[in-house]
Amino acid sequence: MWLSGGQWFDSASGAFKTGDVKVEDGRITEIGKAPSGSECLDMEGRWLLPGFIDNHVHITLDTATAAGNNVWRDALPGSIAIHAAWNARRLLMCGITTARDVGGWDYHEIAVREAINDGQIKGARLFCSGKILSITSSSSPYYPGMYEECDSPEEVRKAARKQLAMGANLIKILASGAVNSTKYERADAIQLRPDEIAAAVEIAEDNHTHVAAHAHATDAIKHAVRCGCRSIEHGTYADDEARQMMVERGTFLVPTFCTAHAFLKDPAFAERALPHVHERYKTLEALRQKQLTAARKAGVKVAMGTDVGTPGNHCGENMQEVTLMVEKCGFSPAEAIICSTRNGAELLGQEEHLGAIAQGRIADIIAVPRNPLDDIGVLHEVDFVMKDGTAYRNDRA
Ligand SMILES: [Zn+2]
Repeated sequence: MWLSGGQWFDSASGAFKTGDVKVEDGRITEIGKAPSGSECLDMEGRWLLPGFIDNHVHITLDTATAAGNNVWRDALPGSIAIHAAWNARRLLMCGITTARDVGGWDYHEIAVREAINDGQIKGARLFCSGKILSITSSSSPYYPGMYEECDSPEEVRKAARKQLAMGANLIKILASGAVNSTKYERADAIQLRPDEIAAAVEIAEDNHTHVAAHAHATDAIKHAVRCGCRSIEHGTYADDEARQMMVERGTFLVPTFCTAHAFLKDPAFAERALPHVHERYKTLEALRQKQLTAARKAGVKVAMGTDVGTPGNHCGENMQEVTLMVEKCGFSPAEAIICSTRNGAELLGQEEHLGAIAQGRIADIIAVPRNPLDDIGVLHEVDFVMKDGTAYRNDRA
């Protein structure tokens, strides 16, 4: 089958080209001119992009509750799994064909991943970390299904092995405190120490995968980079030295810039949050804006990630991260698209399969009705989604 008559985004040049895209057995097999009489899906007037990759999601979390301290207190376990399944579907329908879940809830998200891969339900392709490796923390009761406490390299090894045994694709660690945490926890404080981070990296590398390091604190970022973590999540307090280290090591930054915007956009919602968390969010956007602008200038590799799952940050609204990168942090539309496709695939080690419209790649293709290089906001109007060569959404059909 051919997707014919549209413009397609060429990741190599960062520009759109005219051409038809042939899809066979879930892969892109040719880009050129569809022979007359061949089976075609009409893409005239549409702008084709590679399926977007969100490298930081939490599909098991309920984002409708402002106070994020144990959102599932009264829920049945099965309700959490069903919620996650719907969120995976929301991701797919808004154009996120692949997502990295970096903190699930009692492994419900891994069951959802399996059901999607088996074709039982529709959803984004998921890469999952299982539970997050955390030190003994006052915030564990906020996330009873999400945190795995471990203190010391030996305990970290055991916790990492447990996630892999439960089907995790990668390991997620807390190298610093978090914003969504108790008043006793500081985002700029160190959590796992270098010997503990190194233990997580060892186990990940033994198992041919990587570590994603949640790190706000300056030294937490440096510890994680030195220990060989593949990505820094958030990176709020990075300094010039940290950025330089990331460039030298090829460490990715996953910015999650939109969290403060998503949290604060409805003042009545934000008022219902825990007061200390509300206060933290008020300063977060300015910090992250400075940070992401500087990271781009320094040449840090950025892979798009939204942190959907934080309060007010809903699955299906992921494209706001991409538009905010352009509107507030100095990215050109083409750069933001590359961060959301090619760089995301590279972070996942899937650069030969995902992240570009090119011969041989998996046929994950989305479309919008105008040129996003002229108007990045059109990403909120995705009207066609194909994953693995199957069209899950085609609003004009
Ligand atoms: Zn997160």
